[in-house]
Amino acid sequence: MRRWNCGLCGQDVVEGQRFTFIGSIGAVHVECLLESYTRQLDKRDLIALLDANEVLLYAIIRFKEAERIASGEVKSILSEARREIEKIAGRIALMLGQLST
Ligand SMILES: [Zn+2]
Repeated sequence: MRRWNCGLCGQDVVEGQRFTFIGSIGAVHVECLLESYTRQLDKRDLIALLDANEVLLYAIIRFKEAERIASGEVKSILSEARREIEKIAGRIALMLGQLST
């Protein structure tokens, strides 16, 4: 199993923890990254978007799961709702891209 050190807190990044890779830093815990962003006033919009983005991505996964077990009209309503969430997630991702650069 590959192990990394978090570039922000220096602790191990273990499987099952939320982590991501940042170009200039390497592996980081998502919590450490969010904490570091929160301390920088100009990054607050970014953290708000990241947070919203994560909730939406999670919702999409859950909706897909729900669609898998549903049938008929319920399935199509769930699928329609999921496509709406995907549209919003797309807009958030676009804004994230603009703010990150
Ligand atoms: Zn960390």
